[in-house]
Amino acid sequence: TTPAPITAPLPTRSSTPRELRNVIGGEFVDGVGTFEKIDPVDGTLVAVVHEAGPREVDRAVAAARAALEGPWGRMPVAERARLLRRVADVVERRSEELVAAEVGDTGKPETLARDLDVARAAANFRSFADTASAAGLDSYLTELPDGRRALNYAVRAPLGVVAVIVPWNLPLLLLTWKLAPALASGNTVVVKPSEETPSSATLLAEILAEAGIPDGVVNVVHGFGPGSAGEHLTTHPGIDGVTFTGESSTGSAIMRAVAPRVRPVSFELGGKNPAIVFADADLEAAIAGLARSTYLNTGQVCLCTERIYVERAVFDEVANGLAAHARRLRLGRPEDPATTTGPLISAAHRDKVLSYYDLAIREGAELLAGGGVPTLGDGLDAGSWIEPTLWTGLDNANRTVREEIFGPAAVVMPFDTEEEAIALANDTDYGLAAVTWTTDLARGHRVAQRLRVGMSWVNTWYLRDLRSPFGGVGLSGIGREGGLHSLAFYTEPTNVCVQL
Ligand code: NAD
Repeated sequence: TTPAPITAPLPTRSSTPRELRNVIGGEFVDGVGTFEKIDPVDGTLVAVVHEAGPREVDRAVAAARAALEGPWGRMPVAERARLLRRVADVVERRSEELVAAEVGDTGKPETLARDLDVARAAANFRSFADTASAAGLDSYLTELPDGRRALNYAVRAPLGVVAVIVPWNLPLLLLTWKLAPALASGNTVVVKPSEETPSSATLLAEILAEAGIPDGVVNVVHGFGPGSAGEHLTTHPGIDGVTFTGESSTGSAIMRAVAPRVRPVSFELGGKNPAIVFADADLEAAIAGLARSTYLNTGQVCLCTERIYVERAVFDEVANGLAAHARRLRLGRPEDPATTTGPLISAAHRDKVLSYYDLAIREGAELLAGGGVPTLGDGLDAGSWIEPTLWTGLDNANRTVREEIFGPAAVVMPFDTEEEAIALANDTDYGLAAVTWTTDLARGHRVAQRLRVGMSWVNTWYLRDLRSPFGGVGLSGIGREGGLHSLAFYTEPTNVCVQL
């Protein structure tokens, strides 16, 4: 049965706050209390959200378990893939509602939500429908010393009931990046969206029901992390694994939470991503690329560049060119097509980013662009706006260069040799993504391979093939997502060995 709509989802931003409930076993369920979601554009109320307590989380895990043991768990992969393609179709048909939900929560420009977040949500479902349909089994014909043979082959069962915990920066994109492979592999899930972005996950639950995903396969519980829905979920004995995207320190807390029951985790965590610009680069392309990799989504993408190493001969040209780009960005209302840059997600996050703006100056940075809070008028000054910022004058010894800021800000630093650039880029506890700008083909490959990261781009950034491995090393995560890598996490192989 298709659940009744949570509320009428809003096709445009509206002054009427939505009421968002937990979604458990196909029903909309009240919580133990409610919390408010504030619009970072202008400080108004977007939604009143029902917070799940231990009882609601327990019901959600039980609903997921029941669905796993029902027809879903035995459904042929071709049938699940057909349903996922239907989900993609409904995502596209209802894309403007999803855009409104995403924009209402994050304040990001509508064009960005439409072209990146919602487009990728549909692509995620189609990609994993294809990957799961095409995936084969391991099989080995084993030759024994005595001349006999054995056949080894591995069948794959779903991991089980999976806890899916996601952040606020690309809420729908990152949720569907986990949901699509989890469902393609036959799992059932309990989703805990970020408290900052409850809307698109709730709307997606409606879309999944409309597309025919059975009740209880996807459950959504709202709330915070510690002492709330996030912790209730990760400490629940009924979950079989956790897939998490968010801060490294939260990943560490989740590892501790699942340690007593030894559950598998898949972690996509923070970054402090370097870019390297060689003097032989196409500088115009490099500067435009750096502007994108530093400032897209107000710097709130885990892949965003925060450290820029530039060969000394072109240092001034690159630093000044990027600063000019930063000053040209247009902060404004999400529905204005001229807007390039939205606010930060919340007042609390702006406080954190501003603390780094202060720290950079105290550490001796020279400010090339931004550095503070803009005055925008037009009712926006109650929002969480911040200026796109660029510094020079710091090095790898400074905290500004070592700690993830997760805002629209980067430090430009000089280098003299290829070896030095690689060493500086690798001098970090993180290891998520890197970009190398050069027109020397051999150097591009050479440097890209030596950077200690999960994703190493050359002359581009955030160009994704959804079949390729995605993830990080060090503090940036555990495991890889993408194509067969995702399916490996969401399934448990059983090897069968037959003596022939
Ligand atoms: P966060 O870690 O604060 O929160 C992420 C999610 O975890 C939220 O849903 C939150 O409620 C929940 N949570 C928090 N504490 C918890 C706990 N103790 N137990 C269970 N759940 C808990 O992260 P954020 O601020 O929402 O997102 C920004 C961070 O995410 C940045 O560090 C960014 O680099 C990272 N990120 C990484 C990737 C990637 O692919 N590597 C992608 C996007 C964002």
